[in-house]
Amino acid sequence: MAAMKPITIVGGGLAGLTLGIGLRQRGVPVTLWEAGRYPRHRVCGEFICGRGQETLARLGLRDWLERAGAVGAATAAFFSATQSTGPRPLPARAICLSRFTLDAALAEKFRELGGELRVGQRWPAVGVHASACPDRLKPELQPEGVVRATGRRLQTEEGGARWFGLKAHARNVPLTADLEMHVSSRGYVGLCRVNGGRVNVCGLFRRRAGESVGPQNRRELLRGPIGSPLHQRLASAEFDENSFCAVAGLSLRPYRAVARVDCCIGDAITMIPPVTGNGMSMAFESAELAIDPLGAWSRGEISWAETQPQIARRCDTAFARRLTWAKWLQRFVLAPSLQNMLVRIAARSDWFWRMAFEKTR
Ligand SMILES: Cc1cc2nc3c(=O)[nH]c(=O)nc-3n(C[C@H](O)[C@H](O)[C@H](O)COP(=O)(O)OP(=O)(O)OC[C@H]3O[C@@H](n4cnc5c(N)ncnc54)[C@H](O)[C@@H]3O)c2cc1C
Repeated sequence: MAAMKPITIVGGGLAGLTLGIGLRQRGVPVTLWEAGRYPRHRVCGEFICGRGQETLARLGLRDWLERAGAVGAATAAFFSATQSTGPRPLPARAICLSRFTLDAALAEKFRELGGELRVGQRWPAVGVHASACPDRLKPELQPEGVVRATGRRLQTEEGGARWFGLKAHARNVPLTADLEMHVSSRGYVGLCRVNGGRVNVCGLFRRRAGESVGPQNRRELLRGPIGSPLHQRLASAEFDENSFCAVAGLSLRPYRAVARVDCCIGDAITMIPPVTGNGMSMAFESAELAIDPLGAWSRGEISWAETQPQIARRCDTAFARRLTWAKWLQRFVLAPSLQNMLVRIAARSDWFWRMAFEKTR
């Protein structure tokens, strides 16, 4: 039997590691380049919901993550300046696990399965070209067998807004539901319990023109306006200083994988608005959608010219509907004039609550 051709994965976040694990389970030789190191904190709500949990189960990872400390989430509550839905059952159970634990556990699993993990090493081809002009990379610059799982694309400004995210872990935060979402004129902050008895405090914010966001403002933003339910919730919070992290230049516009010439998965294709809590799921799902075509390429059954578009079409088909709904949901949730009304409707209408949840995953 001819030797299998090796796959190179660039980016050891959730998409890259999940793909690496799936390919190794099928005996494909894989080298994975990760610019950072493990364990590390990431800006993320750490709330895993949607079909990606089924991917994890199919790859034999879901129960294993529960054993690693993932906390189940069954209820959610939304808060605006004056309204609250109160705790409501989530239409489907979610799990919450810190990225500090999750990414490191997946990296370990990939290594155990015989994958070659190059940590602290930036893949040069992607690094050089991506920062310059990611969408116009020429096909001849894309080596065969290379999958880009490099995460979100950089966007300094979108529709006049500059988006940035903040995350920290805290103790001593009493919650009324497993997931609390607090919306305000600046953006939103989500709170959920994660492993180790801590609460993830994670927010997405608009940066105002000329505003600089230093460490002090970051804490204030996460704590919310004085007098708000969020501020009360975090009144006695003890933050873990080492867990503070920030990310800027977020692009929240949907993109299609078929528009690209390189083979992408996860946020490297597109980032679903974080308010849906579905980005990690899309990272897992897109990785799974890529396994069979990449396996076939590795065995020499199909060419790279067939493999890359096949993966792109699979991902676009799986994600198009939820990306459209998520775009509108995010627009409404972040419009200050609509927030009170939305929370009121979500409190009263089961149909609206389920629909907003189900259509965005
Ligand atoms: C504020 C905020 C809150 C969120 N909350 C949630 C939530 O609650 N639930 C949810 O499901 N999703 C959430 N998300 C989205 C989620 O975090 C992402 O969708 C997910 O991390 C995407 O995984 P990924 O593997 O595609 O990218 P990443 O996790 O970003 O990984 C990309 C990796 O590639 C590496 N890399 C990049 N370039 C190179 C290179 N040239 N060479 C080597 N390595 C490279 C990076 O170091 C990084 O480790 C949130 C996002 C934000 C911003």
